[in-house]
Amino acid sequence: MAQDWGKRTKLVHHGARRSQYGEVAEAIYLTQGFVYPTAEAAEARFVALGEDEFIYARYGNPTVAVFEERIAALEGTEDAFATASGMAAVSGALTSMLRAGDHVVSSRALFGSCLYILEEVLRRYGVEVTFVDGTDLDQWRAAIRPGTKAVFLESISNPTLEVIDLKSVADLAHAAGALVVVDNVFATPVFSRAVEMGADVIIYSATKHIDGQGRALGGVICGTRAFIRGVVEPYMKHTGGALSPFNAWIMLNGLTTIDLRVRAQAASALAIAEALQGDPRLARVIYPGLTSHPQHAIAAAQMDGFGTVLALDVAAGKEAAFRVLNALQVAVISNNLGDARTIATHPATTTHQRLPEDQKIALGITPGLIRLSVGLEDTDDLIADLRAGLDLAN
Ligand SMILES: *Cc1c(COP(=O)(O)O)cnc(C)c1O
Repeated sequence: MAQDWGKRTKLVHHGARRSQYGEVAEAIYLTQGFVYPTAEAAEARFVALGEDEFIYARYGNPTVAVFEERIAALEGTEDAFATASGMAAVSGALTSMLRAGDHVVSSRALFGSCLYILEEVLRRYGVEVTFVDGTDLDQWRAAIRPGTKAVFLESISNPTLEVIDLKSVADLAHAAGALVVVDNVFATPVFSRAVEMGADVIIYSATKHIDGQGRALGGVICGTRAFIRGVVEPYMKHTGGALSPFNAWIMLNGLTTIDLRVRAQAASALAIAEALQGDPRLARVIYPGLTSHPQHAIAAAQMDGFGTVLALDVAAGKEAAFRVLNALQVAVISNNLGDARTIATHPATTTHQRLPEDQKIALGITPGLIRLSVGLEDTDDLIADLRAGLDLAN
């Protein structure tokens, strides 16, 4: 039975649909619409969609459907809805479930665009949002109240890699009747145990580890069938954030190898963090897999691995961090993550540039901080590359 398959078997085979040609690789149904054999068939399909029936690619498409079924099987949710980007998934999940007057509690350490949705968009439409320090359970306890509709959090924060105690936050949220919505990008679908920890809605930017090769944008919302088909789908199909069939095909091919890639990248990230820990030119080496990480025990309890991203805080500050970045020969300077190429980012001047100084400091985004998304290169080459850069960091 397909349900009994392990994750790696599901990643290769789950939900495969073959046409009459029996193609081995997934077909790309690059079509915006579908032809009906008769007017009666068209009418029937608009009344109720049958199994394997489609109307319009904004509503659904066979290639996209295979991707949705496969990622849901991997995450362990009943269903999933694929979106044009990670942000279409975050905004779609939240705006489809919330309305004016609702109350949301969110962790403060968020990806910039997520912060924009919570702080600007939801408030503009009359949703009350309370921000908390996600690692402080007392703040969650104080902010969640009876009638709170949802809590939102990134299970591992960007770029300082704080880990939120998902199970404890979920218990507090559920006691108040709130849904737990998790942006799980840094945990990755490979290491996620979010369902087991109590998450109700799990969101991925497929642009990151699911593609894993820096080619295409995509996103996905995972949840119960009632939530995905009853709440998310009606909103998404009318607001237009559908994933293109071509990008769904890229993401399907990404899923085929994601387990091998993410495990190799995470092993390399740990080896790099261990090699650089204690280097006098670094004020901090941050990686949830290090026992020195403040939430190491929580990370070990709620995930099957520690992710592919680490952060290095160059003690001498911005100019020194720039010298390190400019010296890199293997890692590239960019802002994606989860890629097969190692990517180095200076959050204070790029991804988090717009934050006011006091907020950067509060979030630990220091002038010397470098975020490193570890790729598939030889670990020794990456360590040598970073050490050569650090030799210029004084
Ligand atoms: C990249 C990212 C997003 C947005 O994804 P896109 O595919 O770029 O829209 C959302 N949340 C987190 C944590 C991310 O890293």
